[in-house]
This record gives sequence, structure tokens and C-alpha cells, in this order.
Amino acid sequence: MSTLRHMPSTPPSQHRSLQGKAALVTGASSGIGREIALELARRGAVVGVNYIGKPDAAQEVVQAIANEQGKALACEADVSKAADVTRMVSDFIKQAGRIDVLVNNAGIEEESPFLEKTEEEWDKVMAVNLKGPFLCTQMAARSMAKTGGGTIINISSVHEDLPFPGYASYCAAKGGLRMLCRDLALELAPHKINVVNVAPGAIATPINLRTLQDPEKKLALIREIPLGRIGEPSDVAKLVCYLASDDASYITGTTVVIDGGLMHQTGSL
Ligand code: NAD
Repeated sequence: MSTLRHMPSTPPSQHRSLQGKAALVTGASSGIGREIALELARRGAVVGVNYIGKPDAAQEVVQAIANEQGKALACEADVSKAADVTRMVSDFIKQAGRIDVLVNNAGIEEESPFLEKTEEEWDKVMAVNLKGPFLCTQMAARSMAKTGGGTIINISSVHEDLPFPGYASYCAAKGGLRMLCRDLALELAPHKINVVNVAPGAIATPINLRTLQDPEKKLALIREIPLGRIGEPSDVAKLVCYLASDDASYITGTTVVIDGGLMHQTGSL
């Protein structure tokens, strides 16, 4: 019984669906990115765990993957800096042999009323949430174009479409990511590179800590979600694994929403 309890949750039908693939996940030392890294590895991919500033947290993810007999390596880089991204992607390719999947997951949120927003905040959110995916995608796609193709998955947000007062920079960056996905899907299709956005609704991660730790705010949020629960990082991770697999090879240039119905709720957020 105790062995069964420690078995990974991957359903047998999806077992090893990513065997032989190499996948790099940005912002993978916490939250959704951490879970994506774990699930990709469970399905057989060699995983690059990108992180910024927290080597211990990244090492914990690499160790958790190794404990399940998976393969992973920690990859330090600030995704908003071209020199960091160039070094990270080329080191990953050197060590993993190739890159088949890039998950642009790293992201930050800053809340402030629009009339008080600073240039610094605007630039910071744009740099991580929009310039980061540009830099990482360009580096990864240059390699994928030479090796026969690949998949770029952007972790966007329901706020690539849904307004969110107080979060103008976040919404503008995710809205930009929406068009980047559609544009690159066309431009990279001749290289057999698919580009897909995943738009989560409310997922229980450190980014939402203030809401999750406030019982009233948490309850109000749950009331907005038709399925009646906040999503788990594993909900998103399983979708990403499907999109990264050959089963999803005809999906490109679109956004897959994963939000428990939140976007369709009248008066949501
Ligand atoms: P999180 O804060 O746990 O994860 C964000 C990660 O990005 C962190 O590991 C952080 O270190 C990393 N990061 C930040 N700046 C970076 C940089 N310059 N370079 C490299 N890494 C950097 O929160 P999360 O909820 O797991 O967020 C992951 C993604 O999911 C984000 O893009 C976020 O916008 C998106 N998202 C989250 C939710 C949600 O409800 N949690 C909903 C929609 C979209």
C-alpha cells in the first residue's frame, strides 16, 4: 500500500508520451512552472528547470524529479535579459542534446491604480511577461528550426482577454502574448514549430497568496468560478503535457483556456 501511495499520478495511457523530448520550463522553481516540470519529467522528457535567484528551490525541483527516476537540470537565467537567455538556452541544448519544447511560464504581477502606475513597474512587468517569451522563443526556435520542429507553450492568463482593473501592465503584457502566439504560429509553421497559449484562471500558487490567505477574498473568488474551486498547478501541468505531446501536433496559433468556467461568468473579476 505504501508503495502505491508514492506512485506518480500520471495515467497509464499518457505514460512516457514525451520520451526522448527535451523541454525547458521558465520560472520552474515554484507554482505552476514547478508542477509543469514535474509532469513533463514523469512523461519521459528531460527537463530544464529555469529559475532566478533561488538555487535551492530549483535544486529541490531537480531532486524531486530525480526521486521519481526522471532527468532534470537547473538553469539559472533572468528571462528578461538577452545575454542570460542566450547562455541558458545554449547550455541546455549542450546538456540535453536538443530542445523540443519551450514553456514560457515565468511571470510577475504588480497591482496599482492606473493613475499611479510608475514607468518602472510598467517596464518590469513587460520585461518579464512579454520580452522574456520573445527572447526565449527566438533562441529556442532557432534551434528547433534546424532539428525538425518543436512546440512553444506560453503560460498566458485569462487576462490576455479579460480586463482586470489595477493590473493594466499585466493585462497588456498577457494581451501582447496573445498576439505573439498568433503571429509566431504563422511565421514558424514552415519550420514545423507549433505555438500555443495556455490561459489559466485562478490557480493556487504563490502569485495569489494575498487572495488565498484572506478568507473573504478567497470565498468571493470561488463564487466567481462555476466549477466551484480554485485550480491546482497540476490542472495546468497536465494540459501542458498534452500540448507538448505529438497527440497535439495539429494545434497551433490559439489559446486553450483552463479556468473552471470563470471567463464565462457574468461580472467576473
Ligand atoms: P509563481 O510566482 O509561483 O511563479 C512565477 C515564477 O516566475 C517564479 O518561479 C519566479 O521566480 C519566476 N520569475 C519571475 N521573474 C523571472 C525572471 N525575470 N526570470 C526567470 N524567472 C522569473 O506564480 P505562478 O502562478 O506559478 O505563475 C506562473 C505563470 O502563470 C505566470 O506567467 C502567471 O502570470 C501565470 N498565471 C498564473 C495564474 C494563477 O492564478 N496562479 C493565473 C493565470 C496565469
